[in-house]
Amino acid sequence: MPFNLGYPSSQSRFFRPGYHGTSLQEVAMRFSTDDACIEHVMQTRFAQELPCEECGGVRRWSRRTSTQYALRCCGAVVSPLAGTVFHHTKLPLRLWFYAMLHFANSHAGVNSGFLERHLGISYRAAFHMAHRIRLHLAALERMTPIATPGQTVEVRVENLYRIRSDTSGHNRANVLLAARNGRVACQVIGVSRHRSVYKAIATMVPGHGDLHTTCYRTARLFSDYGSRLPQATYLPTYYIDHPNEIDAIKGFMSYFLWPLQTHHKYVSHSYLWLYLSEFQFRYNRRNHSAQTYWDIIGAFPILTSQGDMPVSTATTKDH
Ligand SMILES: [Zn+2]
Repeated sequence: MPFNLGYPSSQSRFFRPGYHGTSLQEVAMRFSTDDACIEHVMQTRFAQELPCEECGGVRRWSRRTSTQYALRCCGAVVSPLAGTVFHHTKLPLRLWFYAMLHFANSHAGVNSGFLERHLGISYRAAFHMAHRIRLHLAALERMTPIATPGQTVEVRVENLYRIRSDTSGHNRANVLLAARNGRVACQVIGVSRHRSVYKAIATMVPGHGDLHTTCYRTARLFSDYGSRLPQATYLPTYYIDHPNEIDAIKGFMSYFLWPLQTHHKYVSHSYLWLYLSEFQFRYNRRNHSAQTYWDIIGAFPILTSQGDMPVSTATTKDH
């Protein structure tokens, strides 16, 4: 991508010190060629001083083909892109890195039509790319749960309306949101019943401690018939009693709902969790947004085709 002013963006006379994002120029300088991109993926995934899994030697490698490396110790072949967000891609990696910049910087989210026009690729390729990047963001978010075992978590079940879908029966959705220290996590739940909220909170925050909620309906959902453990304490005045704490769930919902209803009008029920993950990824980095892009390209987890989807949402397959 020839977008290089020839000097760091911080020396530009248009540089805005208050701007907390990653600029196009920074990305273009750092990832000016596809080689730089794949080298970054290779380094990120394998550069730790871990011994080679094949022979126990120290990992050093040399480039073999455009997507493969050979380990110097034993000659084992490594394909750093396999299984990751880039799996089987025929598009230049620079386009992917560029698309990810938009996912990092855009407040309203990125839709496939935008990528199609902006990258000059087919709608089909753009749709696939956006889908893979959202899966990637979701996988990254799951790597760091919002709370460690035993910690208190706030929960709320929200009912979303106007989720566009071809099948009118799925035009609304229940979402379980959890929050701690300003970070949120969310999951689409099938039906708002006790069983679905228990299951969802256990996958979202494994081993969580006490639950509390400001929502009466949520408290009802969590207060089962006294038999199962997770119960949410109903604290309606929590944010009045704790004026220094921010209602992150409320903040996230207003951050998510407006773009959903204006920019992403045709989100199907079965894709909703992915859009939520995309917005969650950005929202949880709102206080250090300059890091968002580097977080996106800071790890490349293996995405499995079905395992990406939280189990309790796998109810419809209408896309
Ligand atoms: Zn080896």
